[in-house]
Amino acid sequence: MEKRSGDVGRTRGWGGRGHRTSRTERWVPRTGGGGEGAAAPSAPSAERAGTGGTSRKRGPGAGVHHRAPCSPRSPRRSPLNLGPPSPPSPRTAGSRRAQRGGGRGGEEAETGRGDREGGEGRAGAERSAALRSSRRVPSRPAMPPPPLALLLLFAAAAAPPAPPGTAIRPEAVGMGGPGGSAATTPRGTAPTTATATPKGTATTPTSRTEQGGAGNAAPTRGGAGPKAPAARKKLVRVKVVRKKVVKKRPKAPAKSPPAPQEQPCPPLGLESLRVQDSQLRSSSDKRYGLGAHRGRLNIQSGLYDGDFFDGGWCAGREDAAQWLELDARRLINFTGVITQGLNSIWTYDWVTSYKVQFSNDTHAWQPCRNGSEEAVFPANKDPETPVLNVLPCPAVARYIRINPQSWFENGTICLRAEVLGCAVPDPNNIYQWPNEPVPTDKLDFRHHNYKEMRKLMKVVNEECPTITRIYNIGKSSRGLKIYAMEISDNPGQHEVGEPEFRYVAGLHGNEALGRELLLNLMEYLCREFQRGNPRVVRLVTDTRIHLLPSMNPDGYETAYRLGSELSGWAMGRWTYEGIDLNHNFADLNTALWDAEDNDLVPHEFPNHYIPIPEYYTFANATVAPETRAVIDWMQRYPFVLSANLHGGELVVTYPFDMTRTYWKAQELTPTADDGVFRWLATVYATSNLAMASEERRLCHYDDFMRSGNIINGANWHTVPGSMNDFSYLHTNCFEITVELSCDKFPHVSELPTEWENNRESLLLYMEQVHRGIKGVVRDEETGEGIANAIIAVDGINHDVRTGTAGRGRAGGGDGVGMG
Ligand SMILES: [Zn+2]
Repeated sequence: MEKRSGDVGRTRGWGGRGHRTSRTERWVPRTGGGGEGAAAPSAPSAERAGTGGTSRKRGPGAGVHHRAPCSPRSPRRSPLNLGPPSPPSPRTAGSRRAQRGGGRGGEEAETGRGDREGGEGRAGAERSAALRSSRRVPSRPAMPPPPLALLLLFAAAAAPPAPPGTAIRPEAVGMGGPGGSAATTPRGTAPTTATATPKGTATTPTSRTEQGGAGNAAPTRGGAGPKAPAARKKLVRVKVVRKKVVKKRPKAPAKSPPAPQEQPCPPLGLESLRVQDSQLRSSSDKRYGLGAHRGRLNIQSGLYDGDFFDGGWCAGREDAAQWLELDARRLINFTGVITQGLNSIWTYDWVTSYKVQFSNDTHAWQPCRNGSEEAVFPANKDPETPVLNVLPCPAVARYIRINPQSWFENGTICLRAEVLGCAVPDPNNIYQWPNEPVPTDKLDFRHHNYKEMRKLMKVVNEECPTITRIYNIGKSSRGLKIYAMEISDNPGQHEVGEPEFRYVAGLHGNEALGRELLLNLMEYLCREFQRGNPRVVRLVTDTRIHLLPSMNPDGYETAYRLGSELSGWAMGRWTYEGIDLNHNFADLNTALWDAEDNDLVPHEFPNHYIPIPEYYTFANATVAPETRAVIDWMQRYPFVLSANLHGGELVVTYPFDMTRTYWKAQELTPTADDGVFRWLATVYATSNLAMASEERRLCHYDDFMRSGNIINGANWHTVPGSMNDFSYLHTNCFEITVELSCDKFPHVSELPTEWENNRESLLLYMEQVHRGIKGVVRDEETGEGIANAIIAVDGINHDVRTGTAGRGRAGGGDGVGMG
């Protein structure tokens, strides 16, 4: 989800505007990366690092597997060492509050933005204008009627082409950008993996894994005992490698990435919500907000503990007889259980060991045995890191119970869970499971790591050489190329009257669905074009489409290594340098709003093409190479419409993403083109099958269904330096954010369904680029096109400009091809 974890990123302080939601502040302690401010004296740093589920550099050992010994071979082995792990020292809400305050104070010291009242000084003056029309139709938030004219497409000047460089780069307009400089890089906060790895809980003799039994994944899974030292070693090595790799061996990370730790049987869907609330029961619960229905892997708590949306299931009593029960509503061969602790910043609660029982009728229960003894599984050591136990006793049953035996000594019985299992054919099954994937398109439905992604793009390119072109826009900090695919009837050329569109996915590396959807989309467009599907042929012929599936390839590789279930909620979100890309664009809002407040817009300060502040261009500014590459890309191509794809929620957000009142965490902050943006967001939200479903359950705690599954970004919560705001203020491109699914990294088995959910919306949204007015601005006497002409529309305080046409314009010389 964009927002929640966005907060985490924001606490790190680039941008330095002191905009925070309470959410953010709450998260500061846990990230372990909030800068000095967050390093509260009351808490040892190691402790915070260890418990920080969102710690971004926990290392490869973060997702923990335990494999309990399988039955007959080592019956003598008592499975588990269940001594309580060396826990963090007790923390009270009070001390955490103190931290939180500290974190905020520290960050606000960096604030570079002056106070401002939210006065919306509309300088609606007339401007040198070429075109006038009223294109605004007031509309309701949920389903605005299509505005009369939406996107102004300006492809100008048929001939001759304007000299390169005159078109897009805005001239420097005198302005004093926001005083603050980019904040310090949140480096050096790398939490140790040590506390996150299951050291010492030797559940498995080494020989056990050698005997296989779990298929190809067995070796990587190993036992907890042998694994711990390995994980530690890896962490150390990563640090060393980084120094070398950055300069000398940029391709190192791409080499032989470990296979994702996919399980032989898929998750039943506690996280993805395929399992419904009514399928979850418990022996007791503390209160409704901590009921069994909240005991889902990666569920996030609401703003305050104690409401209906707390971050997990908590038993109402503290004894070893408590359980969380799943009714699979059909026969399942249960193969594994994944647990996490409670998501909360006020309390620390997790289960350190549990038993598992099965039943077919909820009356007779059979324990999961390990040989002759009832198996006791080692569980969590912190609230966030998911821990997998592969069951030594695969059992076919309808019901499964997780039965906590011990828990963090200063906490109580709380957990979030996922259950792995394969459905057993059952002719008597009367329940239909929803979302049994029935893909209509035969696409490559799986998670593609960097190499596989590159390969797939190549295959598509070879299948459809006349309409596709692969290029890269630059490199990640670890040297992975950021690839894009262009799909158009004349790839490599900007054609007059043919608007440029882009989809960008993977700003947050762990939000993996968008990446796969864009790869699916490439395959789909290629194939359907070949088949002569008239809709696709028209789209490809009339549009220049750019698909960028992975803006943060380094982060993705981190999440991919841990796999869809064990990467947790935040692992892989940031770039390798720890930067959150969706907060890393230049803040142009502040300059614009300051100028507006002083009545300088648009005569002395532009209302569009706002220049990038100087501080942002300094070599030592905290700007990720990925961000620089994308900004450069935005400046090179005359994009007019875009969406960036995220995950973790089901909602479409539109700019502004940053609140105008600087101290507000949430505030409706519309752009001058609000009607268009709401239309665009609504197009996606109403055609997405998952969002549009009336029966869907809230992902976490926000109810976006009430507002048609769209929301103004700043009204959800403020994001300074977002890609959407930058696109809108610095270029002609209108861009929105799509949060694609509750689960950031859906299991591979969910991908066909997710494609079905999104296919129509992906196509329909692209087609919106043809809405509105388009045309060519010409010199009346010579008939030549005029590049960089400002087009203003009465009543809309945001102009756009014509581009240039002809060969050599957009993207000429950009085709780097695949290395
Ligand atoms: Zn995101």
